[in-house]
Amino acid sequence: YFHPAGAEGTETKFLTTHEKIQDIKDTPFFVDNKFVTSSTTQFIDLHDPATNNLVTRVPQNTDEELKAAVASAQRAFESWRSTSVLHRQAIMFKFVALIRENWDRLAASITLEQGKTFADAKGDVLRGLQVAEAACAAPELLKGEVLEVAKDMETRTYREPLGVVAAICPFNFPAMIPLWCIPIATVTGNTLILKPSERDPGAAMILAELVEKAGFPEGVVNVVHGAHRAVNFILDEPAIKAISFVGGNKAGEYIFTRGSANGKRVQANLGAKNHAAVLPDCNKNQFLNAIVGAAFGAAGQRCMALSTLVMVGETKEWLPELAELAKGLQVNGGFEPGADLGPVISPQSKQRIESLIASAEAEGATILLDGRGFAPAKYPDGNWIAPTIITNVTPSMQCYKEEIFGPVLVCLNVDTLDEAIDLINGNEYGNGVAIFTRSGPTAESFRRRIDAGQVGINVPIPVPLPMFSFTGNKRSVAGGGASTFYGKPGVNFYTQLKTVTSLWSSADAIAKKADVHMPTHS
Ligand code: NAD
Repeated sequence: YFHPAGAEGTETKFLTTHEKIQDIKDTPFFVDNKFVTSSTTQFIDLHDPATNNLVTRVPQNTDEELKAAVASAQRAFESWRSTSVLHRQAIMFKFVALIRENWDRLAASITLEQGKTFADAKGDVLRGLQVAEAACAAPELLKGEVLEVAKDMETRTYREPLGVVAAICPFNFPAMIPLWCIPIATVTGNTLILKPSERDPGAAMILAELVEKAGFPEGVVNVVHGAHRAVNFILDEPAIKAISFVGGNKAGEYIFTRGSANGKRVQANLGAKNHAAVLPDCNKNQFLNAIVGAAFGAAGQRCMALSTLVMVGETKEWLPELAELAKGLQVNGGFEPGADLGPVISPQSKQRIESLIASAEAEGATILLDGRGFAPAKYPDGNWIAPTIITNVTPSMQCYKEEIFGPVLVCLNVDTLDEAIDLINGNEYGNGVAIFTRSGPTAESFRRRIDAGQVGINVPIPVPLPMFSFTGNKRSVAGGGASTFYGKPGVNFYTQLKTVTSLWSSADAIAKKADVHMPTHS
């Protein structure tokens, strides 16, 4: 498999520069454990966000190719579900080891295609790897329950796989989000069709290579490419029993509705607008560093980016200091040593972010730090926006209402904690929230009253580790967040409970007359 980042076959060399690639290769798709060149005539060009040089062409798989991937997953299902859980666990241990071995290569692919810094890309891989590690506990996670419900009678539960399942992924975590799905979907006995983001599928392709090397049988994981048409195919294909989606609200709400109407299980994590409430009694230095990292890291392209500051009381006086700290961040190509944040994903995204900054200005907010018009000398053609801080924002402004998904921090002022809580609870999104305070009772009151799914207390990005689950709420999830990703709920999503009640009575206990009443087992 030739990867645009330079890895060929079993070699692990990879590019760690933004230099122009001379010999552009199309990204293949992956079916039956083989990399296949698509016969399509429709491609999506993928550009390095730091230079806008072409990196690869991503095919839009044809219907025949999509059907072949589903057929492969269907063929694999019966034997895969019958393998012992210890066998699946052994493959998962191997997969984990291979991800570790290929950690730098995965991260380099992410930096080249997505733009985030190499160090940050390593974190992207690690957060996914941790899910694969947790999935190694499958024998424990898949245990059912048993109860002797009456004399000679017991009820047992089994967790059975669903069949062929699909994952549709966003661009911002090219390794982590495929790894929210691959390990748990497969270790529970399902087979998977993965559609990575068409904007940066390279990490998913390296993961596909590792799937084969880890010993997954053919068809257990297939990777297809495309955008709307491939997604519609997945939504309407009867053989696909469940869909995991992570991405924006427009696509996610549509996918949830159409997938559910077609009788599939759908879990869908959507957009966000994460707030931080800052109290005057907090550790100011810790707060300043935490917020600068969480607002501008990954160029703000994280669903848990802390993009909205609610400054309580006199803390608004700290804004100039915050701006100084943000100004010190190095915006550069992700492979450059010392780079703190890279470019945003595309010229369109840059334009959208800049127009939101302009709208704030027009609506009367103050641009305290303006990152527009910046470009590092070495990369004049990338999609650059340097850290931007907008103050005196009010809830009616467009920059407050929309998810910006760029290195832009919007700041609102309130007088009390109660006002901060009302403001945050009034926002339609509910992914993450943070409070900065030294007071236990204040933090506890905030924790109880706040309407957001993931709360950080002096922790800026409280993404739960995989022994817990990712628990956004409100419009940050579709379907009320009933099915959350990874952890025990992730195992529940990918399995169907079967409940068996058995009676093993001695001969003389069998009655002579039929009992027509509702059985109560009492
Ligand atoms: P996106 O919604 O544009 O794309 C996600 C996936 O959906 C892609 O695979 C894409 O091909 C497909 N898609 C896009 N539009 C579609 C349409 N109209 N019909 C069918 N399929 C479509 O999202 P993105 O820009 O790649 O990712 C950024 C978004 O993802 C942000 O809103 C971010 O908050 C969100 N996100 C959420 C979480 C979370 O856990 N809540 C995590 C990461 C990202």
